[in-house]
Amino acid sequence: MIEIENVRKSFGPLEVLKGIDLTVQKGEVLTVIGGSGSGKSTLLTCINGLEPIDSGRILVDGTDVHAKGTDLNKLRRHIGIVFQQWNAFPHLTVLENVMLAPRKVLGLSKSEAEEMAVKQLTHVGLGDKLKVYPSRMSGGQQQRMAIARALAMSPSYMLFDEVTSALDPQLVGEVLDTLRMLASEGMTMICVTHEMKFAREVSDRVAFFHKGVMAEIAKPDALFGAPETPELQQFLAATH
Ligand code: ADP
Ligand code: MG
Repeated sequence: MIEIENVRKSFGPLEVLKGIDLTVQKGEVLTVIGGSGSGKSTLLTCINGLEPIDSGRILVDGTDVHAKGTDLNKLRRHIGIVFQQWNAFPHLTVLENVMLAPRKVLGLSKSEAEEMAVKQLTHVGLGDKLKVYPSRMSGGQQQRMAIARALAMSPSYMLFDEVTSALDPQLVGEVLDTLRMLASEGMTMICVTHEMKFAREVSDRVAFFHKGVMAEIAKPDALFGAPETPELQQFLAATH
């Protein structure tokens, strides 16, 4: 489980996370929505230790992410993160790209890494693209490759940061379908997204961020059906 306790984080004079409290249970799908600059991406990068925090605590399966002595490389193996865009190595095939981290980070043999990469690429529907170069794939296929690459590390948690935001509209569906599949398999996920229909369908809970504060968190029907704060009401009116 991921436990976030009163986390504060500033960039210079700008306080970006203003005391966030949040627990994500094993198997839970949490969606994070909110306007640009509300702190959504910063939260994800603090969870996997890419960014330090100023105060509070983040525990992942009981390990304090930001404590001195925490082995961040070890921790990050359990936390897959996928961004808007991932620049694959252009001179490597899709298969070779996905094999890289299991080889280098987990120390798998070439055949073990290949087996894992084939398994995960097949899982996201790219079993016929193994020998293709990334530039030959659509944006949707590239995002599914990025997801397969994260899954190849056998993570316990997956963090998704607006993985469909850079895609042409007709390619969004295939990537959301992949996320739906992972959710239905019981993967513990935090998804930052602008796709409200997706958030409503797939989430166990939805969190609304506004100016560094988690202004509301609730089950999707409650959050979308009866938003409590004027900020969320305005946000939802603007996205519909
Ligand atoms: P969101 O993902 O909700 O759009 P972010 O977490 O990316 O918001 O950013 C929150 C605020 O922090 C924004 O005002 C952004 O400009 C600022 N910010 C994010 N990363 C940095 C950084 N590395 N250095 C300085 N400011 C940053
Ligand atoms: Mg962001």
